[in-house]
Amino acid sequence: MTTPQVLLLSPIPADADAPENALRASLRFVPPTEPILTAFDAGAGRGDGIFETLGVSDGRARGIDAHLARLEASAVKLDLPAPNLAQWREGVEALLDALPSTGQASIRLVITRGTGSGPTCWLTGTPVASDFPERTDGIRVATLSRGYANDVGENAPWLLVGAKTLSYAVHMAALREAKRRGADDAVFTSTDGFALEGPTSSLILRQGNTLVTPAIQHGILAGTTQADLFSFLESVGFECVYRRIPVGELLQSDAAWLVSSVRLAAPITAVDGTAILTDLALTARMNAALLA
Ligand code: PLP
Repeated sequence: MTTPQVLLLSPIPADADAPENALRASLRFVPPTEPILTAFDAGAGRGDGIFETLGVSDGRARGIDAHLARLEASAVKLDLPAPNLAQWREGVEALLDALPSTGQASIRLVITRGTGSGPTCWLTGTPVASDFPERTDGIRVATLSRGYANDVGENAPWLLVGAKTLSYAVHMAALREAKRRGADDAVFTSTDGFALEGPTSSLILRQGNTLVTPAIQHGILAGTTQADLFSFLESVGFECVYRRIPVGELLQSDAAWLVSSVRLAAPITAVDGTAILTDLALTARMNAALLA
């Protein structure tokens, strides 16, 4: 099957020890054209909800545990009922069965606050084009202020910077602004001068034998791809470090990437119009490791 798949999930409380047949009975495939929300759903009206996007290659989803853990953490941050992770895992497995067994795809998990009688939940599975030219050609980025300091995660948790919320209008606006500036993507910066993350990706720099990424307490989402890459890079002898990254280091490093679950590692070739060093050999190893 190559068409997009939509799977509705009737939420089971997280503490219910539901047997496998009950988990399966709580899932229902619907035609992709069938309406699944009322006009009054808080997800549609206010972007009040959370999501996850998993990358799939050759029938296997990468980092299911990490994505489910982040879904659970986002639910806590938004005071949403805890998701039943066994149920969501069952949903991911059902979608993997329905998607093509070769090539690449993405699976999205969505929870909205609903209409007042409990959350609205669904999953989608979408086959994606197998070639991502950005993985080899690279991307030019524009640095764009996020409008707050790097300690926002600690000092203003209600801004939800570490949660993967449905309110991505700002992230999409940043991508459009980057394109207006002649770039392909953006790197958000803090008002106190630190590089944070892309609108839909994590930032990694190489400085000699050391790989650096911003620590999550500095107002960013904990990236599952970055975590997988750090495990791989440590296993092949690199040192991996979490710390604050002054914006100037984007220009001074030996290589830089924006990494995410579906596009994987995209090497940054220019920052605000200035060309920077790339490491295409390491990029190829990183993407091969993620696809393996
Ligand atoms: N940061 C933000 C703001 C994101 O939206 C994403 C993914 O969409 C990431 C980082 C990368 O996360 P992951 O590697 O888990 O896809």
